[in-house]
Amino acid sequence: MFELWTEAVRSIEPLVKPAQRDLWLRPIECLGIEGERIRLRAPNRYHKEWFEDNLLDSILRDIEARTQRSFTVEFEIAEDDGPAQHQQSDRRGDRPREARAGAARAPSPPTTVSVRKPDLVDRYTFDKFVVGPTNQFAHAAARMVAEAPASRWNPLFIYGGVGLGKTHLLHAIGHEIHRQHPEWLVSFITCERFVTDFIGSMMHQKRSAGGSSMEEFRARYRTAPDVLLVDDIQFLSNKDSSQDEFFHTFNVLHYAHKQIVLTSDKLPAELPGVEDRLRSRFTWGLIAEVETPDLETRVAILKRKAEAEQVNLPDEVALYLAAHIKTNVRELEGALLRLAARASFQGLAISVELARDALAKLIANASTGLTIETVQRQVASYFDVKLHDLRGPKRHRAVAHPRMVAMYLARKLTKMSYPEIGSRFGGKDHSTVISAVRKIERLCAEDPSVRSVVSTLESHLRQP
Ligand code: ADP
Ligand code: MG
Repeated sequence: MFELWTEAVRSIEPLVKPAQRDLWLRPIECLGIEGERIRLRAPNRYHKEWFEDNLLDSILRDIEARTQRSFTVEFEIAEDDGPAQHQQSDRRGDRPREARAGAARAPSPPTTVSVRKPDLVDRYTFDKFVVGPTNQFAHAAARMVAEAPASRWNPLFIYGGVGLGKTHLLHAIGHEIHRQHPEWLVSFITCERFVTDFIGSMMHQKRSAGGSSMEEFRARYRTAPDVLLVDDIQFLSNKDSSQDEFFHTFNVLHYAHKQIVLTSDKLPAELPGVEDRLRSRFTWGLIAEVETPDLETRVAILKRKAEAEQVNLPDEVALYLAAHIKTNVRELEGALLRLAARASFQGLAISVELARDALAKLIANASTGLTIETVQRQVASYFDVKLHDLRGPKRHRAVAHPRMVAMYLARKLTKMSYPEIGSRFGGKDHSTVISAVRKIERLCAEDPSVRSVVSTLESHLRQP
């Protein structure tokens, strides 16, 4: 009967991403099939739920197709097993099996039981993290690790671009572990802090010829933590002695079955100036990427943020912001706050108009990365006119000509609409912008000196 399960699993394996297969599918154990009842065992509740939501149906469908019968499924949760494992005296009692077996091999010294709140940002919790297709895997991995520290995925390595929620997830893991195990010491540090601390204690060591500072440092990082969370590990690049120290820290903690979670803006293999032996350790556990969220998720993040900040954000404005600010959640949040501040300052409701105006500086053209602000500054400086005049109403040629050039380049390089450009030049009408653009086009065709000025400016602006 077991084979029925094994075969069904095998048949869906090719449809599941390798990382997901290892993370979610393999740990599910079939305890038996009796009549129409399939008994399964999952490492923990969260795992069970994820499995039910995502994989169970396909497996059942396969079994049912094979047998022409329908089945019910019952779960056991490994974590809940056996009263002995719930004993309070065993401070790791609620970790799953593998961890305990390992811990017996390398017993960790009993640290003093102290409830110390970890150094974490309050709002970086799982419930404030918006999950979408591009961060779903990292989120799930983070939850798994928080549910069952050091049982399977050690280290967890979260990587991705700036402002995509790595630090948020790292703190969320810390909060959750602290909630479940208040007696554990959850150590959160930035990698920068690790390096500074390490260098500080080396200097102390030298000065006082064998002072205790290095011992303190090692006690703090190697002995004390039950969980070590290190943010921005890429900071170790080209720092040889800190790397060496971190290598040993890692080994000691890993051997003692303490969970390690790292974040980085690069994959281990791509970290420049990091020793191979360290890079390879970073890949021992699980690597999870956070990518730029899709539009829908960006909208959801904005709405969640607006709610938290008690800002009344109409749907169309959320969509406008999310459509224009694409790559970075931190910027997205910043834009919302700036807009809210501006609206409240001017006593206006938040609208698309206001958003467009407030964000014109920020919203860069997707292909050139240029804002109209940059175009105006470059042009003003090239022609040596004041930015204020370039945007203002003065009509004499010394500013009117540079202004037309700026309008032309803004149109060409930022792809803003004519009315939008007009509004960024002291509220000029769109027809003024259109005629400026036409005029410069004509001059470029007819007059080599104008053409050369415009193309010089354009190539300056296009340089990254
Ligand atoms: P990173 O460490 O990857 O540079 P952060 O974790 O500092 O990014 O995130 C930047 C900001 O964006 C934080 O305020 C964080 O709360 C927020 N943020 C990022 N991703 C999400 C998300 N999926 N849901 C809610 N907030 C998010
Ligand atoms: Mg960060």
